Amino acid sequence: MSYLVLARKWRPQTFDEVAGQRHVTQTLQNAIEMGRLAHALIFSGVRGVGKTSVARILARAINCADGPARNPCNKCAPCLEITQGRSADVQEIDAASNRGIDEIRLLRENCRFRPSLCRCRVYIIDEAHMLTKEAFNALLKTLEEPPDHVYFILATTEPQKIPVTIHSRCQHHAFRRLSAAGLAEHLDKIVHAEALGLDRNITTLLARQAGGSVRDALSLLDQVVAFGAASLKDACEALGVISSQVLCGMAKAVMEGDIHAVLAIIDEVQGYGVDLRHFASDLALYFRDLLVLKGVGPARAGGLVALDEEDLKDLGQVLSGVSRHALLQMLDALVKGLDGIAKTSTPRMSLEIILMRLCHMREVVGIDEVLKRLGEMSHAEGAFSDGQVSSTGCSKCQEPAASASAGPEAAASEVIFSDGTYASPDKSWGNFCRFVAKKRPSLASMLECCIGTDIRVDSGRCAIRLTCSPGMHYDLLRERDNQACLGGFAEEFYGVPVDLVAELSKEASADVCLSSGKKSSQDRDDLMQSPLVKEAMKVFDARVADVKIFSRGK
Ligand SMILES: [Zn+2]
Repeated sequence: MSYLVLARKWRPQTFDEVAGQRHVTQTLQNAIEMGRLAHALIFSGVRGVGKTSVARILARAINCADGPARNPCNKCAPCLEITQGRSADVQEIDAASNRGIDEIRLLRENCRFRPSLCRCRVYIIDEAHMLTKEAFNALLKTLEEPPDHVYFILATTEPQKIPVTIHSRCQHHAFRRLSAAGLAEHLDKIVHAEALGLDRNITTLLARQAGGSVRDALSLLDQVVAFGAASLKDACEALGVISSQVLCGMAKAVMEGDIHAVLAIIDEVQGYGVDLRHFASDLALYFRDLLVLKGVGPARAGGLVALDEEDLKDLGQVLSGVSRHALLQMLDALVKGLDGIAKTSTPRMSLEIILMRLCHMREVVGIDEVLKRLGEMSHAEGAFSDGQVSSTGCSKCQEPAASASAGPEAAASEVIFSDGTYASPDKSWGNFCRFVAKKRPSLASMLECCIGTDIRVDSGRCAIRLTCSPGMHYDLLRERDNQACLGGFAEEFYGVPVDLVAELSKEASADVCLSSGKKSSQDRDDLMQSPLVKEAMKVFDARVADVKIFSRGK
């Protein structure tokens, strides 16, 4: 007895059996029911997603003795004739081998005759984009005024190659690739019905390898069954691919920064005889899934990722130790590296280099995380505001004058109220700084260069003059966007229009120089002992590489 391959055995026979193309089948079924089916249709999509199957089902549905019906009965004479390919009225033309004008002319001649057994003539032109220009022109004439009893279905993997003139006379149905999760589910049904006894891990692997094509997935399933695969490892061996367990192991090794494990896994993979280029692209897909998982959480990731339950369990803990930013960087580096691996003659070395680089990326911290930590630092700073240390640190050390008493809190004492409007302490400069810190931490950190503030309110306008110490913060604060943004926050906070000016303090506007000698080394020691510096070293897990002390020029 001859064996019927699964892809043919499980070819859908009704619209309801077609997997993953509901947007097409439902439209066609409704059109049949309402008698509004277009006479020329284009079915586009990658191979093995059901274009020809749907075309045949459609041919039967409109010709069925019980029809036209939403689904063919598959039992009546027309249905059986069409299924067995014996019908003179329903013809399949392979445009890849019959692409000339003669075939299309013959087709046009035949169109004029009434169908014999069926209700309608249906022409299914497979790989329609392969037709010659002349053939398309000949077809165009028929498509312009198709006889009532004729339907054309142009199936193609490359719809963009079909001339616009043809396109505009056809109704276009785009078939989709199946998602890995959807395909795995479809395979599970077949595995169950055929009593093949393969578990979900294997069907997930097949779905991942099939790239959205049902036919490819079923061919792979045949291959695995013929191999007699019972475990995931067997299945991988049968297909010459890497299991998700190995991918999971590699992802874990990378995220834990375990270079030894990374190199061992590459060795193992090469031992399987697997192409490292394929492995690298599988790994990139895997990291993509991890990023999705990290982004939406395991509860909502189902359907978006092709990870099996085992993986999900394993990965939860590892993922919690890596930031989304680091994961994004890893995926980015991996995808960029794929090209290089594909071209090089030493893919193993390239892959090793990329993965070792990835091992270091787990420590990469996103800018939002840095700002958050900065925020924590400024809290710590608040706790130490005993006058010993401030955000304006070193310039203050050298200038004990009251006017330069620094830090947002200290500067508040200098606020001058001209009309008493803001006498309440909740409108203090310190509170304003905190207000800004909540809205935009980066801007608040720029305010640290302020060593004096002068706030005046006159006839409904507020004038804020900031006296600043020189440095990076001041330069940033002077940028137009930042000034505008700060002005906006000030208006929001004080509730009146605000004119905001930031300028260097008179003493500070002289040249800035690096001080030296005994005094500065004393300052250096003081600084190293300051709680703020200690806190900064703790928060950023850092050490002090260099101390520069700026002093006023005079
Ligand atoms: Zn029928």
